[in-house]
Amino acid sequence: MRDPNCIFCKIAAKELPAVIIYEDESHLAFLDIHPANPGHTLVIPKEHYPDFLTTPEELSCGTYSVVKKIVLAILSGVGATDFNLGMNNGPSAGQVIMHSHVHVIPRFAHDGHVMWHGADYAEGEMQAVGERIRAKLTA
Ligand code: 5GP
Ligand code: ZN
Repeated sequence: MRDPNCIFCKIAAKELPAVIIYEDESHLAFLDIHPANPGHTLVIPKEHYPDFLTTPEELSCGTYSVVKKIVLAILSGVGATDFNLGMNNGPSAGQVIMHSHVHVIPRFAHDGHVMWHGADYAEGEMQAVGERIRAKLTA
């Protein structure tokens, strides 16, 4: 399955150029064109699924096997020891390309990136939120 308007489908089909660092039958890993740090890599299933929830579970499991395989090469290649794995799902979460992808971002001390700012719960709110989520899992 592919989306004719999707940039990542075109990269997977080699119709658009990319610096590919890994490829197998079902996945591709290539450098992000606007990296948070050098070596910032995107891992995608070659088939088009918009996000995590629409991707079949066995394919997502394969994605994380590929991620694990390439992380050490990325870190060693750019001289980093730390990294973030990230997946934006939906516009409010910062997803711009609607083809499921995992960001592998090598991190360096004092590189200036802040992933998010933590806030405080109001009195009792944490317990209430936990209870609402637990109820959905047991429903
Ligand atoms: P999102 O915000 O959807 O999670 O991330 C999309 C990522 O894809 C961005 O970090 C962006 O820099 C990267 N990107 C967008 N277009 C291209 C492209 O044509 N080639 C490559 N290599 N990366 C791209
Ligand atoms: Zn696509």
